Amino acid sequence: MQLPNYAYFQGRIVPYAEAKVGVATHALNYGTGAFAGVRGYWNDAEEELYIFRPKDHYKRLLNSAKMLLIELGLDEDDLTNITRELLQKEAHRQDVYIRPLIYKSEEVIGVRLHDLANDITIFSLPFGRYVANDTGAHLTFSSWRRVDDNIIPARGKITGAYANTAFIKTDAMRAGFDEALVLNIDGHLSEGSAENIFMVRDGVLITPPITDNILEGITRRTVITLASEVMGLEVIERSIDRTEVYICDEFFLTGTAAQVTAATKIDHRPIGNGQMGPITAELRVLYDKAVRGKLPQYRHWNIAVYAQESVKT
Ligand code: PMP
Repeated sequence: MQLPNYAYFQGRIVPYAEAKVGVATHALNYGTGAFAGVRGYWNDAEEELYIFRPKDHYKRLLNSAKMLLIELGLDEDDLTNITRELLQKEAHRQDVYIRPLIYKSEEVIGVRLHDLANDITIFSLPFGRYVANDTGAHLTFSSWRRVDDNIIPARGKITGAYANTAFIKTDAMRAGFDEALVLNIDGHLSEGSAENIFMVRDGVLITPPITDNILEGITRRTVITLASEVMGLEVIERSIDRTEVYICDEFFLTGTAAQVTAATKIDHRPIGNGQMGPITAELRVLYDKAVRGKLPQYRHWNIAVYAQESVKT
C-alpha cells in the first residue's frame, strides 16, 4: 500500500511518519476506537476532487463517538474542513480513500470507556477497487455471525468489532470466494463483511432494516434514494431469509469501498441467470455519476476540495 504523505494527528497536519502512538495506547489494546471510510472522487472535466457525503460520514462517526464516551469538541463541519485541508496538502488528483479514526489515546492498562483521553487522526491515500471482481462476485454465507447490538453495536463503526469482519473475510477468501454474507444472531441476513446488501425480487429492491444489526451505510442510503427517486423503483426495508438469496433475481453489495458490487453466484448457485442484472447495472452507472458530482440534483452530496469556500455555514 502506498503510504500517505501527511496525517491529521494531535490537532494538526504533520508528516505521516510523525503520526505515531505508543504501544500502551488504550485503543490499540482494547479496540476502543471508531472509524469512518470516506471516498474522494476526481472529476477530470472540472479538475476538482469531490468528497462524497463527508458530513454524513462524520455524523455517523460522532454517533459512534457518543456510544464510546468520546467527546471531540468538533462537529461534522469542522471535521469536513480539516479533511479538505488535508487533501489539499496531499494535492491528490485521483480517486482517494479517507480514513478518519477516533480513539482512546491514553496509555494505560484497564478496560473501560470512562475517564480516558481521546483523540482523532485522519489520513488519505489513492484508492481504486475494493472487491476485485465487482461485476460478478461469488459470495458465500459465513459460518460466523454478525455482532449483535447487545454485544458490540454494529451501527457504531467500532474498531474492536472489525475482528468479526476479519474472521468473516479471511475464511471466505481462503475458501475461494470474493465476499461473505453474514447472518445475525436471529438468523436473518445482516450484511456483507464490510458492505450493506440489496436483493431484487420481481422488480422490487429489498434491503434489511437498520434494526437487523447492520451498519447504517451511507452508500445504502444513497442507493435507496437513487433507486426510488431516479429509477422509480419500490424499495422495501425488511428482514431477509438466507434462502431468499438463492432464488432472487439480482443481488449486490454497497459500501464506500465496495461502491455497488454485483454478485452473480452464491454458494456455487447462479444468482438470477448468473450475469449482472439490469437494475444493478443501472445503479452502478448512477452511483458513479453521483459520487463524481455529475447528477445536478444531488450536488449537495459532493464537497469540493480545491474550491475556495469553507463548508461552515
Ligand atoms: N457494513 C459494514 C460492516 C461496513 O464496514 C461498511 C463500510 N463502511 C458498510 C456496511 C457500508 O457502509 P458505507 O456505505 O457507509 O461505507
